[in-house]
Order: sequence, then structure tokens, then C-alpha cells
Amino acid sequence: MSIQTPSSPERTDFIREIVAADLREGRIETVVTRFPPEPNGYLHIGHAQAICLSFGIAQEFGGRYHLRFDDTNPVKEEQEYIDAIEADIRWLGFDWGEHLYFASDYFEQLYEWAVDLIKAGNAYVDDLSADEIREHRGTFTEPGRESPWRDRPAPESLDLFARMRAGEFPDGARVLRARIDMASPNINLRDPVLYRILHAEHPRTGAAWCVYPTYDFAHGQSDAIEGITHSICTLEFMDHRPLYDWLIENLPVPSRPHQYEFARLNLTYTVMSKRVLLRLVNEGYVRGWDDPRMPTLSGLRRRGFPAEGIRDFATLAGVARAAKVLEVEMLEHAVRNVLNRNALRRFAVLDPLKVVIEDYPERQVEEMEVPNNPEDPSAGSRRVPFTRELWIERDDFMEEPPRKFFRLAPGREVRLRAAYFVTCREVVKDDAGRVVELRCTHDPATRGGDAPDGRRPKATLHWVSAAHAVPAEVRLYDHLFKDPHPGAGGRDLFEDVDPDSETVLRGCLVEPSLADLPVGETVQFERLGYFCPDHDSAPGALVFNRTLTLRDTWAKLQAQGRQDTA
Ligand code: ATP
Ligand code: MG
Repeated sequence: MSIQTPSSPERTDFIREIVAADLREGRIETVVTRFPPEPNGYLHIGHAQAICLSFGIAQEFGGRYHLRFDDTNPVKEEQEYIDAIEADIRWLGFDWGEHLYFASDYFEQLYEWAVDLIKAGNAYVDDLSADEIREHRGTFTEPGRESPWRDRPAPESLDLFARMRAGEFPDGARVLRARIDMASPNINLRDPVLYRILHAEHPRTGAAWCVYPTYDFAHGQSDAIEGITHSICTLEFMDHRPLYDWLIENLPVPSRPHQYEFARLNLTYTVMSKRVLLRLVNEGYVRGWDDPRMPTLSGLRRRGFPAEGIRDFATLAGVARAAKVLEVEMLEHAVRNVLNRNALRRFAVLDPLKVVIEDYPERQVEEMEVPNNPEDPSAGSRRVPFTRELWIERDDFMEEPPRKFFRLAPGREVRLRAAYFVTCREVVKDDAGRVVELRCTHDPATRGGDAPDGRRPKATLHWVSAAHAVPAEVRLYDHLFKDPHPGAGGRDLFEDVDPDSETVLRGCLVEPSLADLPVGETVQFERLGYFCPDHDSAPGALVFNRTLTLRDTWAKLQAQGRQDTA
């Protein structure tokens, strides 16, 4: 295949090149990166890409990586999210060891540095309200206006800042601002807010604080405390970089990190905004944060996507400087690659049609040896019971087959996989004219699936012994949104949710070995696709999710030369 596989070791990108040069030229000794989630939601596939990039670079260049929660906004943050984020990153395959940090651990140090800024004339307490500050900020074309409190003497700001911390003022009464340049063409340098008053309990620091640093004040300084060398983030932070650098230059921080930006990952048929994901959950469009149609890592895991496939996708997607939208089929392609290699093959019939082999002994059971994975001989084989009465897939039979239908039809011979050739002799219908049973005969000389005379039927079907089949519910999943660009053209995004993105099939019948397949293991139902047990599954009430169909449409899209769309 011409498709570049992720295992090719020569991969590089502009960020890896920078890291390699910094090491080569001795600007750094060891590369140290971090992933800084805000614990206000679950991680999604975009975050996975950021993790694979930052953590992957540290691994490849023999450095270390930190997980740091950016928990500076106590109003939206919750312990539930912290736990889920940690579990998801571990599942993705990364272990930060002892390097787990919280921006809130640095609150005291950050406060001291804020005091340093005030003393140096680089920050002041402003009494303007949030609205007034916004009005003073100016626009892209007009400079901002200075606050009347900008030249307040440092001792006065120090006193007020201490009283802000002591809880003397209500929320929003005052803020601490950096004193940079209200005329800067970069709005982020127009005296940005460094601290705000917020009388709110914090998941970790409780009631200890009622002033909280802004993202801009916390982020770079946290990087510096931890000795981060390459602080990798998405493009929306590019305009913040001059502020990031200004703070590092004007504070007695222990190291000098640098920020690098790459383009956010976007996928067709997918929305990654946490605000939208939260609404999908809260308004009942999906079964929860971990619904198999959600782009969250917990959703993809429940859907049966292996972590390796997601890591491979991150490599395949690469690192871009400019925003673009990748085809979701690219992700599916990477996942299929892994599953095709690793997933055990099993028999399952989703829409059963009874087959009776008239010339097969009534009480006989033969254990047919079936390979677990033709792609991987080391996966061995299993024994699948074969009997006189079987289930096959209803759409593997047609009473009046059109020209290109090669599967079972009256008078026609097909192969039952790893069993016998059978020929359809008679079609049994109910009163409504619906086919309810096929009467067949078999050729005993074809046991195992090959004929001594070398004849080869055009079709091979999967099957399940009726006496041994285990009933199951199967949930078929498709893209959650029916439009490749949900909400495009000013449409309400929620109108693009596809109500048929989940189809629940009941009365499916699966081979006995599937009864105790553990949650988290994805198998291939032969000829149908990849499936995994859902966590709703229980003994006697099995539930499987369809991970993916077998059809890889990405290769086709590639061939059409449209692997990315704008
Ligand atoms: P919010 O809009 O709520 O801030 P967020 O997705 O940026 O959402 P964070 O928890 O701040 O949430 O994200 C952590 C890190 O993941 C950030 O550094 C961010 O740059 C990165 N990230 C977020 N979304 C994507 C994406 N779609 N592709 C790549 N990286 C992403
Ligand atoms: Mg963010």
C-alpha cells in the first residue's frame, strides 16, 4: 500500500526539528515537556494529539514529561474530571511517574511574584470594573486607554493586593494588572489582568484563596518552576506569547521556557468544543461523556478503539502550523490498521436466518478448528461447534439473486467457513411469505472448508450453531453528526445531530466463546466489522458495540487526493 504507516521511524515536524537543534547546539541538556489540561471536562481526540506530541517528543529525545493540571478557575473545575483525565492519559499509554503537578500548588509562589511585579512598577491594582476594562482595551485598529489607576503608587497597590487576598473586597471589585503598554498592537500586552477576586472553593486549595491568577499569569511561570523547556500549545496562544516572554523576563523565575504553537486538530463529522460536548451530554443526545459516538477518549475506548490506533493516528495526522480539518476516516483507518493486525476473528450473526442441514446427523456436534487471526498465525485457533441446525446472516441469502450476488440462493453451493460446502435445496416460508428457514445438504468430503476435487464456491459465509449460539444485543454506531462540518453555514449545530447514529439490534446470535470476552477487547465479527463488549454487557445479556465496519474509505479518499478539506 502506498499509505505511509505510522511505524516509519523517520517522522519529523517543525517542533521536533526545533527540539533536535536545541539539543544539538547545547541550548538545553534535556527536553522537558508538559500537558496542561484544565480539569473542566473530559479529554478528546484533539487533546490526545497534543499529548502524543508533547509526551512523544520527550520520550523520543530521552527527556521527561509532566502532567500539570491548569486549575486556576475553581468555578468550572471538578475532581471527577481530574480523575478521568488521569485515567484517560494512562490508557493512552503514557506514564508521567512522579511528575504530576497542579498550577494550584504554585499559588503562593505566584502571589509572591505578583508582589515583585508591583514593587518593580510592573503591575498595579486597578479599581475599574470588568466592563470598564473592556471598554478601555481598544480594538485591533485603535489603541487602548490607560486606566486612571495605572500610576497608583506601588505601596498603595501592595496594600490593596494584600487586602484582596485577605478577602476584604467582593468578586470583581478590583484586579491586578500588568503594567505594559496600552498602545501595543498586541491586545494581550495592553495591561493584561493577572489576578481576579473570586470567592469560590477550589477543589484542591479549598477556601485558602479568594484571588486566583489568570491563565496567562499562571502558565508560563508554572512552566518555569518545573523547568519545562518546550511549552507546546495550540495556535490560539500565539498572540499570548509576547506576554509569556514578558513575564518570564520580568520575574526572578528559575528557568526560561519557550512556547511553541501548532494547529489544533479538527476532524470532519466531529465537534471538539467542550461546551458543545457538555450540552450533548446534558441534553441527552448521547449516553454520556463516554458514549461510543463521542470524540472523547472515554467514548473512543468504549467504542473499542485501541490506544495504539489513536497514537498511530496522531503520528499520521502530523503537526501542522496552520489550521485544517482532517477526514475522520483517517482516524478510522489508523484504528483499522491496528485491529486488522490484532483483533481475534469470531463468528456472530446479526440478523439470523435458520439453516437446517438435512443430511447431517441429528445429535452430532463437531468441533471445527477456526484460525483466530489469518493475519497472525501466532494467535492460534479455536474450536467452534458445528451442528445440523445453524444460523446464517439473513442477507447472505436471496431467493432470486441478481447477477452479482454470489452468496446463497436456491440450488446454489457455498462454503461455510472452516466447516463444509452446503447447497440450498428448499426455502421454507411463513404465512406472510417471509423466508424462515433454508433446507440444505452438505458435502462431507469438504470438511474444514476445502474440496478434494478442487472446486471452489464463490462465497464463504459465517455461521453459528443454533444449539450453542448465545443471544446478544448489538449497537451499531455511525458518525454522531450527519454533516461533515457540523453547524456550518450558520446552522444550529444540534440540528446536524444524526438521530440514526445509533441503531440497536436485538436477537443477534454469537458464537459461545464471545460470552466471556472481556470489556476492552475488540474482535472482528467475520465479514461484519470490529466489535467489542460494552460495559452494559452482563452474563446472559451480552451487549456489543460496533467499533468500525471493515470498509476503509480513507484509502479511497486518499486516492481522490482529498485527505484534507478546508
Ligand atoms: P477550552 O476551550 O475549554 O480551553 P481546551 O480544549 O483548550 O478547551 P484545555 O484543557 O485547556 O482545553 O486543553 C489542554 C491542552 O490541549 C491545551 O494546551 C490545548 O492547546 C490542547 N488542545 C485542546 N484542543 C486541542 C485540539 N483540538 N487539537 C490539539 N490540541 C488541543
Ligand atoms: Mg484551554
